[in-house]
Formats: sequence, C-alpha cells, structure tokens
Amino acid sequence: MPLLVLKFGGTSVGNCEKIIKVAKLIKKYHDKKNKVIVVSSAMTGVTNDLDRKSKSISEKFEKSEYDVLVSAGEQIACSLLAGSLIKLGLKSRSWLSWQIPILTDGKYASSRIKKINTKDVLSFLNKGGIPVITGFQGISIEKRVTTLGRGGSDASAIAIAKFFNADSCIIYTDVDGVYTTDPRVNSKAKKIDKISYEEMLEMASLGATIMQPSSIQDAMLNNIKIDIRSTFSKNPGTKITNEISATNKKIITGISYTKNEAKITVVGVRDQPGVASGIFKPLKDINLDMIVQTSSADGGETDITFTIKKEDIKRVINLLKKNKKISYEKIIHDDKVSKISVVGAGMITQPGVAQKFFKALAKEKINIMVISTSEIKISVIIDQKHINRAVKVLHKEFDLE
Ligand code: ASP
Ligand code: MG
Repeated sequence: MPLLVLKFGGTSVGNCEKIIKVAKLIKKYHDKKNKVIVVSSAMTGVTNDLDRKSKSISEKFEKSEYDVLVSAGEQIACSLLAGSLIKLGLKSRSWLSWQIPILTDGKYASSRIKKINTKDVLSFLNKGGIPVITGFQGISIEKRVTTLGRGGSDASAIAIAKFFNADSCIIYTDVDGVYTTDPRVNSKAKKIDKISYEEMLEMASLGATIMQPSSIQDAMLNNIKIDIRSTFSKNPGTKITNEISATNKKIITGISYTKNEAKITVVGVRDQPGVASGIFKPLKDINLDMIVQTSSADGGETDITFTIKKEDIKRVINLLKKNKKISYEKIIHDDKVSKISVVGAGMITQPGVAQKFFKALAKEKINIMVISTSEIKISVIIDQKHINRAVKVLHKEFDLE
C-alpha cells in the first residue's frame, strides 16, 4: 500500500465548507487503498491574526510565548479536519506536534525539524486510521513549543514524508501548479507538468511563492517526490522530480522575477585582498543577492555592485557609511529595480541562451544593469518600470506560450 503525505495550505482549509471538501478529497485517496498522512496549515488569516495580537501586547513579545501563540491555528484546522473525516465514517484523529513528538533544534520562530517519532502514528495508520498532523510546529528538547518560520507547514510535510518514508508528498494549495511565469503578469503563462528540484528551487527563490525554497531543498536532498496541486480543481498539477528535464523539450522551463530589489554600487574601491571581505563583514545579517565586481584593468580601483531587498536599503547604506575599514569614492544606489530570470536545465547543453535573452531585451530598449548566471539560470537587474513588459517579451522569445 503506497503511503502518501497530503499537505493542505491555509486557503485549502480556509473555512468549514472547504474543510469538508478537503475531507472528501482525502477520503478518495483512502478509498483507493492508499495510506494517508494529512498535514495541515492554519485556516487562512489565522496565523496573521495571532501575530497581530502579539504585537498589540508588545513589539518585543516574548519569543517562546510567540511560538505557543502562532502555532495555535494549526490545532484548530487539524481538529476540524479530523472531525470532518470522522463524520464521513473514517477513522481519524489529530496529532499536535508535541504529541508525536516532532523534535526541533529549539530555535523560536525558525526551528528546523531534527527527528520525528513515527511509532504511534504508524500503528494508527496500520489500523486503517488517517492521522491529521499539525504543520508549522514542533517541540524542543526542553519541551517548549517552537515553530518553523512562516510558511513552515511545507517543511513539516517534507520532514514527515522523509521520516515516514512516504512514496510521495502532495502539496495542496490554491493554484494548480507551477507556471512558466506569473499568470497575473502574463495571461499566456502555462502550467509546467514536470520540473526538476533545481529548477523549482530557482523559480521559488526568485519569486514564485508556491513553496518555501528551504523545503524544496530538503525534498531534493532526501529525494522526496512532490506534487503540487490545487484543492479546488481536478487538473493534474506540477511534479517536482530529480529527472533532468530531458523530457522537457524546451530549453527554458520558466521565467521568474522579483519586484522589490535595490541595487547598491560602491564605486572606486581598491582592487586588493580583503576589500570585499571588509565591505561585506558588517552586512552579515543582510540578505544579499547578486554580487558583482568589475575587474580593474591595472590592479588599481574597481566597483562592487550588489543587490538586496528594498526594505534593507537604509540600513545597508548606514552600515556602509559607518564602516571605517573601507575607502571608496562614492556609493550609488537605486531602489526601483527588479530582477528577472530565465530558468531551465536545458541551458546546460544549449549554447546561445544568454545572447537570445539580451537581444530580446535590447529590442525592447530595456537596459540591463547587472547580470549574473548559474548553470541553469540567467538573471538580470532592470528598471522596475519595465518588468511586466520584460516578462512578456521573454516568455514569448523562449517559446513558453
Ligand atoms: N500557518 C503558518 C503560516 O501562516 C504556516 C503555514 O501556513 O505554512 O505561516
Ligand atoms: Mg501558508
């Protein structure tokens, strides 16, 4: 009997009507002779609401209590779901993470799962039961409730699939899969049937918000098959696997973008050992993205450009200005930039992708400010006002429609 982990996101369990629908969906898997472990997120909006409540008590709400508070939404969703399954005549029960237990490294608000005890849940499964497990939460060795970070129920589902040795993990959400680009920006976006972990990772960390990048990485490391599907439609979803997209005849799998980037250039720094380290040392808590250094012709001076999240720009500029260990001519910055990327494992074997990319933007008179590449992606920074047009042009150029 195959063992499946079915994970439901907040919108899938958004109200009682939807929870009843989800229960019927789970029953179908059960009737088809699968063993099913259900993992649920909180009903949509609930975690945000609890987060707001903590802030109305204190902006510095005690971390350990914060985790007890925000993890509460999952308890509600799981009991409603288990209750719905029981009403359908099935054997089911909810499990809070501490009852299993799901052990974490103990960090509040951003824990990682270390171990899951499978014994009780397995014996329930073997008696035909459907366990419904809270996502997002765990318990530390000190027996304190810890959470996995916002959106962390994906991480729970992947870890549960790993420790229970599941055959597959199905992520139910409100979209029917991963698209070649954001359908809100380009109505010609198409659903991708199959994508590799690496490609998905690039797509996810570059702005497609379907799944947490760290969870995709975990799934990749543990070889867990993932299916992303919509709770509300019968369409087949997107499969994430480790098969290289050889079956995928397209060179490019998708185009992703982020809008809220900022770009900083430190102009005229010395081209000598220790300079980059000197610039970035005080920025160790900042989420840096692209870092580009131009090479100096004569070993004299050079420029270092990097991109960050727009909200960090003031902090970063202050840190740079306060840094007495570096000397430079000036700092220039631009917080109205966007990053657009083409992603595809097909690039590894196909030359000329970069040229095609740059030409398409040139034809549209869109200036490229920064370029960075990896084996399976090319990203550029452009003026934010061109982003929607760039998405459309590249989508067409790379034959995605
Ligand atoms: N309920 C949690 C959140 O809203 C976890 C999740 O949805 O994955 O962040
Ligand atoms: Mg969520």
